[in-house]
Amino acid sequence: MNKPPLLISACLAGIRCRYNGSSVPFPLLEALEQAYSLVAVCPEQLGGLITPRSASERVNGRILTKEGEDVTHFFEAGAQEALCIALNHHCTTALLMERSPSCGVGFIYDGTFSSTLTEGNGVFAALLISHSFTLYTPTSAGLLL
Ligand code: SF4
Repeated sequence: MNKPPLLISACLAGIRCRYNGSSVPFPLLEALEQAYSLVAVCPEQLGGLITPRSASERVNGRILTKEGEDVTHFFEAGAQEALCIALNHHCTTALLMERSPSCGVGFIYDGTFSSTLTEGNGVFAALLISHSFTLYTPTSAGLLL
C-alpha cells in the first residue's frame, strides 16, 4: 500500500541545513518514515541562501539578518519553490520546525535576536496555511502517529 506523503522541514529529517549548519533530527523519525513518504524541504536553502548563514528573524513584516541585511526575497522565493515541491508530491500535511522565520508555526522569534518569542508564523508556514495545509510541529507531532 502506498504511504501518504508528509512534507517535513529538512532539518527535522536530519539534514544539516540550519543557519548554523546543524540539524534537529525528529526523535520519532523512524516511525514517521514507516508511516509516511517523507518529502524534506529547506525553504531557506531553496531560496538560494548558503549554509551556514546569518541568523534571521521577522521584523515588521520583513526578514532581516542579525547584521540588518534584508533577506526577505530569499525567504519568499524559497517558500514558493518548496510549495511547488510539496504540491508536486501531493502533500497536504506538514511537520515543520518550531520558531523558525521560515517554518515556525504559531510562534516565531520576535525580531530582537534575544530568543524572545511572539505570536506569528514563518514565511513558509504562512504560505502553506494559505494553501490549506494542515501543520504540525514536533510538539504536536504525536497526533501524526
Ligand atoms: Fe529547517 Fe526550515 Fe530553517 Fe530550513 S528553513 S533550516 S527546514 S527550519
